[in-house]
Amino acid sequence: MPLLPRRFERIKSVLNRRMSNLTLLIEEVEKPHNLSAILRTCDAIGILETHIISKQNKTPTFNNTAQGSQKWVRLKQHKSISEAIKSLKQMGFKLYGTNLQENAKDYRLLDYTKATAFVIGAEKWGLSQEAKELVDESIYIPMRGMVQSLNVSVATAILLSEALKQRDKEGKTPQSGEGLTKDLYKQTLFEWSYPEVANWCKKEGRNYPELGTNGEILESLPRTIKFHC
Ligand code: SAM
Repeated sequence: MPLLPRRFERIKSVLNRRMSNLTLLIEEVEKPHNLSAILRTCDAIGILETHIISKQNKTPTFNNTAQGSQKWVRLKQHKSISEAIKSLKQMGFKLYGTNLQENAKDYRLLDYTKATAFVIGAEKWGLSQEAKELVDESIYIPMRGMVQSLNVSVATAILLSEALKQRDKEGKTPQSGEGLTKDLYKQTLFEWSYPEVANWCKKEGRNYPELGTNGEILESLPRTIKFHC
């Protein structure tokens, strides 16, 4: 079945607003409802990719709270917090670690309009000592009540909303695909439009086929894979 032009337009309009320079590094957040709520917020804000470290490299799981957002926000799993932080720094991200205890700054006082990664900690323990030492800045959301911290997905939503607000104010939220490189846009457009064909291409080690203006695949594919189009 070819992709419906309406579906293709919808995919493009969402991709046009995706940002590759705003992300999360999630350290050992394990509960499916929290991870799901976080990814759903990422989708709503326009985040392309998030990063995660799970206990014993367990595959993250989601529930209905995600509403399928895990299909639209890439989740890159890292082996260790130090490797993840190093690779994000190499990509040009500034890392803002959430830290409720020591020398942290009120999150509203910092600038998130450039490449920004918020580092989010585990439900019970927060960030590891190693993460706290490796981040560029420590931030907190002021608490005025009896309880010491927010639910992790709520805290994440507050931080991402602040970044989006600052970027909106400076006219830095993408509207027409400028939040991604041309290659990344083209690659993601194909993966979102034809996930099964994209997986098949990866297995075969071949490039994705070109797409026409209505999202049609402009190449003849083997019969078996055509069923997934
Ligand atoms: N006892 C833990 C601590 O001291 O960090 C509390 C962990 S909290 C429930 C889980 C995660 O939610 C934190 O690591 C942080 O990422 C985020 N979080 C919760 N409340 C926050 C706040 N007021 N400011 C910043 N981040 C917060």
